Amino acid sequence: MDLKAFAVDLHIHSCLSPCGDIDMTPNNIVNMSLLKGLDAIGIADHNSAKNLPGIEKLAKEAGLTLVPGIEVNTKEEIHVLAYFQKVEDALFVGDKLYEKLPDIKNNEKLFGEQLVLNEFDEETGRIEKLLINAVDISIEELGYMVKRLNGVIVPAHIDRRSFSIISNIGFIPDELNIKTVEHSSSYVKGQNPLVDMISSGYRIIRSSDAHYLHQISEREFFMHLEENTPEAIIKKLIEGK
Ligand SMILES: [Zn+2]
Ligand SMILES: [Zn+2]
Repeated sequence: MDLKAFAVDLHIHSCLSPCGDIDMTPNNIVNMSLLKGLDAIGIADHNSAKNLPGIEKLAKEAGLTLVPGIEVNTKEEIHVLAYFQKVEDALFVGDKLYEKLPDIKNNEKLFGEQLVLNEFDEETGRIEKLLINAVDISIEELGYMVKRLNGVIVPAHIDRRSFSIISNIGFIPDELNIKTVEHSSSYVKGQNPLVDMISSGYRIIRSSDAHYLHQISEREFFMHLEENTPEAIIKKLIEGK
């Protein structure tokens, strides 16, 4: 089958992430992604999937592909993107993660609000526990859980000096069966020889990690796919290079 290039940004935060701007509402994210000309987006809030249902409804109406995601902070303090075929799978894993989050309440003044919004941008809830803490789950356990649901894990922003698999454990263990890694959109090849050396064995995705609307990518990173669906995107992330 012929492959076509689709513009994707697979790492966007909503206002559910305490560090996500209050303007990162479901409607604003979907509308900005359309304005930027994206074909597919991945929403990956810290340790939670609760804003995916509203965003999914809007994305569907707009003809924008949504890859349901979560940016998990594992017990090794590594940020790992988990992508799922279906929003319900992300919600299922999100609930498991929440049980394993330390029982520390969010301080909204310090960290920001953790708002759950529906497809009308109406507040339907607030998450109590602080979502940016590390969940009591290893990257290996997370990998098994996500794989069982036919999803995939991708180490996030591996070029960053904190919360990345390279900064925290220095390598990517083979047994994790990881085939794709994420680079920050600002990373330039040659900046870090270790990052380049490790990355050379993997498919690389570049995403915005947007916490503000203006940070959402334009048509700058493309995936070559048989079709523009979450299944086809996840298939590539599983296959790797
Ligand atoms: Zn991160
Ligand atoms: Zn992020």
